[in-house]
Amino acid sequence: MAGARKPVVEVRRSQRRRRTVSAYRDGERVVVLIPDQFSRAEETEWVDRMLARLAAREGRLVRTDDELFGRATRLRGLYLAEYGDQAVPVSVRWVTNQNGRWGSCTPADRTIRISHRIQDMPDWVIDYVLLHELAHLIVPSHNARFWALVGRYPKAERARGYLEGVAAASGTPLTD
Ligand SMILES: [Zn+2]
Repeated sequence: MAGARKPVVEVRRSQRRRRTVSAYRDGERVVVLIPDQFSRAEETEWVDRMLARLAAREGRLVRTDDELFGRATRLRGLYLAEYGDQAVPVSVRWVTNQNGRWGSCTPADRTIRISHRIQDMPDWVIDYVLLHELAHLIVPSHNARFWALVGRYPKAERARGYLEGVAAASGTPLTD
């Protein structure tokens, strides 16, 4: 289990640093930058803290299909509860072959695919894309009824803005 292995830590002391500590992964190693004035005890404390922070950050990136399906179930309960089985997908999967879209839904076979490109985005953005595709199970087209369903999600507008910004910055026109 790679995740359980304790990484090799290289501590670098900097005279220019006063209070700030930072850490990053460099291949197999983790480099932790600390102020030169830190005591050994502070060094130990901060190395542990930064390793935990790195692990948490990297753990969030391990978003599985199971986690995605669980997320879909939670969103259905919150925003599409009255539709019951109508909003239940057969499968929800992460896919890497979908560069022009954040997500897609095939209402005929009730499958949803979410682009790996959003895998590292904040939870509330992933939730928006997922709810968008779940709403397509109920309303396939982008009509007023569809947007009313999506609009139940409080951060829908914010998430759309976020995604438009990412699309513009990457120069890729992305659609949903
Ligand atoms: Zn759509």
